[in-house]
Amino acid sequence: MADLKLRIGALYPDQMNIYADRGNIAVLQRRCEWRSVDVSVTAIGLGEPIDPEQFDLIYLGGGQDDDQRRCAADLIERKRDGLVAAAARGAILLGVCGGYQLLGRWYELGEERIEGVSLLDVETIRGEGSRLIGNVAIETRLPGAPEGAVLAGFENHGGRTRLLDGAQPLGRVLKGQGNDGSSGYEGCRAGTVIGTYLHGPLLPANSWFADWLISSALGDDLELSPLDDSLELEAHAAACRAAGIAGS
Ligand code: GLN
Repeated sequence: MADLKLRIGALYPDQMNIYADRGNIAVLQRRCEWRSVDVSVTAIGLGEPIDPEQFDLIYLGGGQDDDQRRCAADLIERKRDGLVAAAARGAILLGVCGGYQLLGRWYELGEERIEGVSLLDVETIRGEGSRLIGNVAIETRLPGAPEGAVLAGFENHGGRTRLLDGAQPLGRVLKGQGNDGSSGYEGCRAGTVIGTYLHGPLLPANSWFADWLISSALGDDLELSPLDDSLELEAHAAACRAAGIAGS
């Protein structure tokens, strides 16, 4: 698969990297390298614009409210147009937790509203109650992925996210809290733009999803060569068991 190249943009790796979520980038990188798919990772920090032609997959991790605040203004001012254009040409955009919230319309904390880039039709409001914390498993429906494929991970968020105007969830909660602890939905997907609360990091325990992201970013019909995933499958099974469902 040597002619292929995956160009990854890692947004705010210094600010938005709670729970070692940069592990997600490492997984994407390794799974490409193991298949001899050329891969590049470019950090995109505060103040830097995004060239939409330059990336096949753009990643935005989680962060504390303060870090989100700092990045949100920059995201709108310097990066929104590039992100919108990248999504329009079919690049994958993946936001995790705080990153998911910022891909949506806004994150409200009391009187304060942190504006997002509105690539996902969701709103997030900081709840009165305790944070939604714990292991989580969701059943997904993604084009080209096995029906009902499970993602397992960990969540820790104060924000409650609501799907607006017919927005589609990434999955249905099997165990855990998901978007808001009550709707039964987790995450959101609009075409190639995906948001989820699953940390852990997400991809080491869900290698099928890492491959789904890679092949979707490289071109829909692409069949990736299989890898020896015995350790990854064990990690997935352990994450499923931690969430309280049978590991598969
Ligand atoms: N600060 C956000 C919240 O608490 C996101 C947290 C996170 O990224 N883990 O809802």
